[in-house]
Order: sequence, then structure tokens, then C-alpha cells
Amino acid sequence: MSGVLFTNVRILDGTGALPYPGEVLVQGNRVSRISRGARALPTAGVVTVDGGGATLMPGLVEAHTHFSWNDQPGLSEIQRMLTEEHILWCAHIAKRYLDVGFTSCIGAATAKPRLDVVIRNAIESGQIPGPRYLAASQEITVPGGLGDETLPHLPYPEFSFGAIVNGPEEMRKTVRMFLKYGVDTVKLNLSGEYIAGIPAEFTPMTEEEITVAVTEAHVRGKRVSAHARSAESVKQCVRHGIEIIYHASFADEEALDMLEAKRDRHFVAPGIAWLINTSFNAGPWGISPESAKQMGYHRELEVACETLKKMHRRGIRILPGGDYGFAWITHGTNAKDLEYFVKYLGFTPMEALLAATKLGGQIMMRGDELGQIREGHLADLLLVDGDPVANIAVLQDAARLLGVMKDGVFHKDPQKGPARGRFSRPAA
Ligand SMILES: [Zn+2]
Repeated sequence: MSGVLFTNVRILDGTGALPYPGEVLVQGNRVSRISRGARALPTAGVVTVDGGGATLMPGLVEAHTHFSWNDQPGLSEIQRMLTEEHILWCAHIAKRYLDVGFTSCIGAATAKPRLDVVIRNAIESGQIPGPRYLAASQEITVPGGLGDETLPHLPYPEFSFGAIVNGPEEMRKTVRMFLKYGVDTVKLNLSGEYIAGIPAEFTPMTEEEITVAVTEAHVRGKRVSAHARSAESVKQCVRHGIEIIYHASFADEEALDMLEAKRDRHFVAPGIAWLINTSFNAGPWGISPESAKQMGYHRELEVACETLKKMHRRGIRILPGGDYGFAWITHGTNAKDLEYFVKYLGFTPMEALLAATKLGGQIMMRGDELGQIREGHLADLLLVDGDPVANIAVLQDAARLLGVMKDGVFHKDPQKGPARGRFSRPAA
């Protein structure tokens, strides 16, 4: 069987071990052999990629992705994009994630009902390049909740960012519709969001509505995720078994206790980049630091950092990524999150890397074959010019990603790029 042999690489395997010099053989779509040191693996019949001392690491995983957010400054700009252009945009963005080293992404809500499903299917069938992707529903919300954009004189649901439901039976109908469309994850908006004029600590969905949504998703073996900034919404997530909790800024001690007790069941993806950049870097789009402060973002960022540090100490799984796709946090800059985890949440660089790789495999529901470099695991690999453990920011520079491999196939081939003195040999 033909394959690719990486030689002369430092292997950062995603187990927590420090990088070590060695070789990795990929056959088909999996890592077949790993060895320490040099010239240990057979070179006959395989393409040899001499890494020239670069780091070989697992592909990154984005835990909270919105392909359909279109790098604009607001929700209505996303919602009003015409469907045909919107599909093309999503395809364009899916490729960008691979370009910058994200080989897996979790869809965290789509702007129109089927965008995520269509893109996932197109990636899986090989029509377009993109990361492994789990497709989301639209955000499901209640009247007056985050994502309800209807106006009294324009009561048209199409203007709304979210799918609006009123009561358990409407919830059932809507969730079943998204499941019929083929989503992997049903998204609920359980709390508010300051930029939409709805306080982050507002928790508007009823227990009955949530029960119905979770029951319907779980009956079909699908997962539920939630926009959950308030303490009460985090508790709702734990009580109802909502697997993926987004934000969680205001989780109080009771919420943290509940979450810790079920920490093997839940993932938290805070989307911290949104809080940081909306607080301080959205001035050119009309949100000065002062107005962000008045909205409540500075306080939320402060509280969220403390909350997430506590969560991290309690061993709750926290993953990077989240809400890229606005004008001040554009798609493709997602690796910034790893740096934010170090600077704002007290993670070591290695912990941040493990959160983006090993835990990433787990949130993709493939922890036994994804997110680490191990024999038998899927070959989603990055060849990085530099050492991310020493400098986590190196991952933000796409030029330093010498190679990107997904499922054993190069998306970015180090043999074809400007490999700067590195060389490769074709199959003997
Ligand atoms: Zn989001």
C-alpha cells in the first residue's frame, strides 16, 4: 500500500508528551506506524516528506463554528444574505478552515435552515474541500429571546436569525424538522446576549420546552448544544443533558458543582474571542470600548475568565474556538483562541494544545481515533514550522503551516509549497 512517511519531524502527539524527534508513517487514511529517532521505518513504496525538524501535530478542532456567519458587523447582515450567495460563502469558508489548520469543526448554529447540512454533505462527498464537520440547526429561540428579530410590523420569521418557537409543541415540530433535514446538533438559545439588547443573564426558555427539544434529539441519537451565558442556563444544560455548553460565563458555584459531577458528559466552548474583541477591538464597526463596557461586555469578560479558570481547575473540558465570523473576529483567525486560553484562562500552552486536539477528537465523538497521533488513528496532521509548545502563536500564521493533511490526503502539500530547503522524495 502506498503511503506518506514523515521523517525528521518533532512529534507533538496530543497525549500531553513533549514533542520528540521521530517518524510517522501514514497508510490510507490512518497513521500506521510511529517511531522515535531516525531511519526506523521502511521507505520503500512510500512518499517521504522530510520535515526538516518541523513539528508534526494533530489537526486542530474548532468547537463552535458558524460557517454561515459572513464576517460582517451584525446579525442582520448575515441573515439578509441571499441563499445562493450564502451557500457559496459557506463553501469558501469551509476551505479556509482547512487552510489554517482546522481539520475538524463543530457547527454551532447556521443562519438558514439547511446551510450547515448541505455543506457537511458536500465536504463528505468530496464536492468541496473542508474539515470534518458536524452540522447544526439554526438557533432555536423563544419570542423575545436571542435570535428573535421579528418586529411588530414585520412579523416574518425569515427576518429572524433564529427559529422561534412558542411552547413545547412548537419546539417539538421545529426540532423534528431540523432532524429531518439531517443536523448532527440541535442548538438552543438558553440565555441572552448584550449586543442583541438582551441581557446575558436572562434565561427565557421553559423547562418543558427544553425537555421536548432534548428528548427529540436524543431519540434520534443526536446531540444538543446551547448558547448559555447565565448561571441558570448552564444548570439547565446539566439538568437536561445538553452535551455542548457554549459560553457559560456566569456559571455560579452551584452550576460548577453540577457540571463537575457530570464532566465526562459535557463540553464547554466559551468563545472567549468574542468577549475579548467585542470589548476592545470593535471600534471601527461602531462598538467603542466604552460602549462595549456599557453593554456589559467588560464585566462579562472579567467574570467569564474567573469562571473558566475555576472550571479548568475542576477538570471540566473547555475547548477553544467560537463565534469567529464577525467583522472584528473573522474566519481563519481562530487559532488566536489558543493564545487567549493561555493569556486569559491560565492554561499552559500544552493544555491549550490538548484542548484543541485531544479534547477536539472527543467533542467530534471520535476520541478513540481522532485528535492524537497514535497508531491506528485517523491521519489529520499539521506540519508546523516551529514549536507550538514554545510559541503558541505560531499556529496563527498560515505560512508556517507547511502541510495540512486530512484523512490521509494533503490539503496543503509540503512538497508543493515553498518548503524552504526541505525536500521530499517520490515513492521509490
Ligand atoms: Zn456562536
